[in-house]
Formats: sequence, C-alpha cells, structure tokens
Amino acid sequence: MYGNLELFIGGKWLGGDGRRSEEVLNPATEKPLARLPHASKADLDEALAAAQKGFAAWRATSAYDRAKIMRKAADLMRERYDAISKIMVLEQGKVYPEARAEVLTSADIIDWYAEEGRRSYGRIVPGRGKVRQLVVQEPIGVVAAFTPWNFPVLTPARKIGGALAAGCSLILKASEETPGACVEMVRCFADAGLPAGVLNLVFGVPAEVSEYLLGKDAIRKISFTGSIPVGKHLAALAAKGMKRTTMELGGHSPVVVFADADPEKAADTIAAFKYRNAGQVCISPTRFYVQEDVYPRFLKRFTEYANGVKIGDGLEKGNTMGPMANSRRIDAMETFVNDAKNRGGKVVTGGKRRGNQGYFYEPTVITEVPDDSKVMTQEPFGPLAPVVTFKTFDEVVERANSLEYGLAAYAFTTSNTTAAAIGDALESGMVGVNSIAISTPETPFGGVKESGHGSEGGIEGLGAYLVTKFISQA
Ligand code: NAD
Repeated sequence: MYGNLELFIGGKWLGGDGRRSEEVLNPATEKPLARLPHASKADLDEALAAAQKGFAAWRATSAYDRAKIMRKAADLMRERYDAISKIMVLEQGKVYPEARAEVLTSADIIDWYAEEGRRSYGRIVPGRGKVRQLVVQEPIGVVAAFTPWNFPVLTPARKIGGALAAGCSLILKASEETPGACVEMVRCFADAGLPAGVLNLVFGVPAEVSEYLLGKDAIRKISFTGSIPVGKHLAALAAKGMKRTTMELGGHSPVVVFADADPEKAADTIAAFKYRNAGQVCISPTRFYVQEDVYPRFLKRFTEYANGVKIGDGLEKGNTMGPMANSRRIDAMETFVNDAKNRGGKVVTGGKRRGNQGYFYEPTVITEVPDDSKVMTQEPFGPLAPVVTFKTFDEVVERANSLEYGLAAYAFTTSNTTAAAIGDALESGMVGVNSIAISTPETPFGGVKESGHGSEGGIEGLGAYLVTKFISQA
C-alpha cells in the first residue's frame, strides 16, 4: 500500500541507484515502510539547472495554460485521494478521515491558485508628462521550498500552488519522515503534463540541502514551514543572497473563553480542533484562558471530550487520534508534563504514553499550571491542553500577548463588542472569534512576531511569488 519513494528532477523519476538513503517508519508500529533516496550534490545541481530551464519555459506559458495543467493535477489528486491518504496515514500517523480531508483540501488549494494566477493584474498610473507608467507583476524566479512532517501534502500544496500560479519553478525538499504522500502528489503534476523542471522534488539531510541551495544565485525565493530556530537559520542564509523569504513558523495559540460564551459549545468546538493530528498543528489551540464564572463547565465538557478520543492506528475505522509522528514528540510531551507537575499543575486526564509500541500519547488536560511553565510558554506540538482561569479582558489580553509567538488565536463570546475588541487586541496573524475556520485556500495564512512573516493562501499567497516592476515608457 505504501508508495515507491523517488526523487523527481528535470521531469525524471530517480530511485536508489547507489544514492545514500534513509528508512521511513510507520509511527503506529515503529516498523520500516521503505527506504528514501537522498539527492547527491550532483542531483541538486541537476535540479538547479532543470529549475532554471523550467522557469524559462513556465513563465513563457500563459496563465490560462498554466491553470489548465494545475487544474488537471488537482483532478488527479481527487481521483487518487484514497491511495495518497493511506500512504499519509502510514507514514505520518493521522487518522484516515483527516488524511483524506488534507488531500482534498490540497486539491482545492491548487485549483484556487490556478484561477487566481489568471488575475495577477498590474496597473497603469497616470504620468506627469507624455509618459506611460506601467506597474507589472512578474514571477520571482526559481523557488526553494522546505516543508515539514505534520501536513505532508497540504504544506507542499500551498507552496507549489502559489509558485506555479505565479509562473515560478520550484525545488521542493519535503520531509524525509513523511515523503510518500508528497511523492504521489508530485506524480499528479507530472502526469498532468507539467513541463520538465518546473517542479522538482528532492530529499536529503535538511541542513545540507538547504545550505547548498540557498548558496546558489539561481534561487530567488525561499519558502519554509517549520520551527522558529530553523526559520531564523534559513532567514540568515537567505539574507546573504538577499533572497526573499516566506517563513511560516511555530505558534502557541491562546484560546480566550469569555463568561458570556456558551462554555459547552466552546469546549466542543475547540476540543475537537485541539486533538486533530494529535495536536501537531502550528495553529493548534495550546493555551486555554477561561473566565472564572464558566471555567468549571468548560473544563468538565472539554475533559469529557478528551476522554472520548479513541486512540489507535489511523487506518482502523472509528479511531479519532493516531500516534505522534515521531519519538521526539513523545519525549517532548514527557518533558512538558513533568515540568507542569513539578510547578504545581494538575493532570486532569491523560499525561502519559499509551502502550509500548507506536508513538501514542494520551489526550491530556492540565490545570493550575503557572504562566511561566514550559507548556504555557513553549509550543507543545502535541495533545496537551493547559486550561487556566482569568478575571478581566485587559488581564487576559496581556497574558495572551506575552509570548514571542503570534500565529493563531481564538476567542469565544456572545458579545459583538467583545468580539470586535478581542479580534483587534490579540497580536496574531490569524484570529478566530467563535470560529476555527482560519485556514482556507482563499484567505491569508501566516504569523507575526517570531511566528514568521509573509502569507500563504489568499491573494497574499500568490503575491509572495511575484515581484513588482515599474516601467516608464515615454
Ligand atoms: P526541527 O526544528 O528539527 O525541524 C522542523 C522542520 O524543519 C522539519 O521538517 C525538518 O526537516 C526541517 N529542518 C530542520 N533543519 C532544517 C534546515 N537546516 N534546513 C531545512 N529544513 C530543516 O524539529 P522537529 O523535531 O522536526 O519538530 C519540532 C518542532 O518544529 C515542533 O515542536 C514545532 O515547533 C516545529 N514545527 C512546526 C511546524 C509548522 O507547521 N510550523 C511543522 C513541524 C514542526
């Protein structure tokens, strides 16, 4: 059921053939699935040359024709969703319905960008004399993109969609831990007739590949999704060559539940969102501030939800949460929970690993944990929910804004005045007020502060791959 792992360079699929390789594991069983070939330096050079040729061909293709190929690829993703989703479950761990939704949403993203690429308008600015002043949008050039293991298809789809719609070519280094589903998505583009070199897929040692590619003049843009420390490292490398960057980094999303909200409704909405992908989501709700009056009711309902989560292999029907994607996350959960306990926190439910095979960790709720504990200050990236109380609007805003993260935030209230005020007050790239729908193909997705810069999705996501040129023609 697991796919064939290959590199895709200059329109050719490349397998092992004496290349270095690494094992890909199933996090539900800890058993190997396949070996993944690494790109050699010669492969990377070939990808760079192919991407330059690909760029020349692709930028000369009309947006109308580019859209046709992209839409064909999206259709192939929809046709093949079942196989791609199963591969994703095997390598990443998430449950099948989540994997299926990810593949289908990714096809929508490609479709949306395909259409939006046809609306990359310029403008004419009236001149002061007898002059025509044109502002035009041009594709930025060859893009290097680096994507992580938590959304093996969706994150690459955002980068591929934006770059291709703008007329750029791409060298994508997807996650070595979850490569198979991405290989199959790239196959959809190859089978849809994308010209050779426009999309190249490589794997390797992440730090080596990124340093090599970012040192090359041909690369004009970097798009990275991952952790803040790696984002800072790549931004520094990019600065050496004055390359543009989009950095989608981590978050530590506050959830503010005001006393006028329906606490059960809020708990149901946000708890389901919390345990999605075992909490390994950059916009996962991670710090819960509940106004005192409704705290007991919110906590009760949230804990009931956590207790009802069915943990197990993502391919077995009925399971609602799979394993963590790798053993590093289990170690991290243990560190967060031990620190919380040592700081006076109470584990209401969960708080430990489940079983001794597969990286399963229990949905966890912790209360009475201080604001300066690890779980309240560092991105948990797992199924941990620290729930604490607050008294006033100003107090909760200060606590919510106190960290260097600024990716997503959520609030629940029935007051329109409070809804407007909290939406304005939270320092965050995205705010969901009585809503968790903050990630759609049509809307900008990205952070502020150390959570990064630039947006993916929406017209901003297309603009990330365009440069503005001014032409003054007398
Ligand atoms: P990590 O920081 O080592 O890696 C994060 C991602 O960056 C991985 O996909 C990795 O392959 C890649 N990476 C690492 N070094 C790189 C380099 N020099 N050049 C290019 N790519 C590089 O940590 P990890 O253990 O994989 O994940 C831990 C933390 O990363 C999480 O706690 C979370 O904060 C963050 N993370 C964020 C996202 C996100 O969606 N923003 C996704 C995955 C991980």
